[in-house]
Amino acid sequence: MTTIPIRYIDPVFRPPSEADSLILPVTNGCSWNKCTYCEMYTAPQKKFGVRDEPETLESIRKIGKQFSEQVQRVFLGDGDAMALSTPATHP
Ligand code: SF4
Repeated sequence: MTTIPIRYIDPVFRPPSEADSLILPVTNGCSWNKCTYCEMYTAPQKKFGVRDEPETLESIRKIGKQFSEQVQRVFLGDGDAMALSTPATHP
């Protein structure tokens, strides 16, 4: 059995367009979480938060070592990865 070196917090949702992608959670849950038709991230363990950066970087390193040939595309989860801050400087 193959073990993916990522600590997932269930439930994990995979958009249909990401059928073949590695799901890499950089946040947990959804920062908005108020759409009336959506119950994806209503479980207590899916309360929104940023995932631990050192843990995420370690997952990326391990995935790179173990699955670099198989992984062609990565989807950043969960519901709103774009809520993360980005560096203000440009190279
Ligand atoms: S995951 Fe998407 S649809 Fe669901 S509450 Fe968040 S923004 Fe709305």
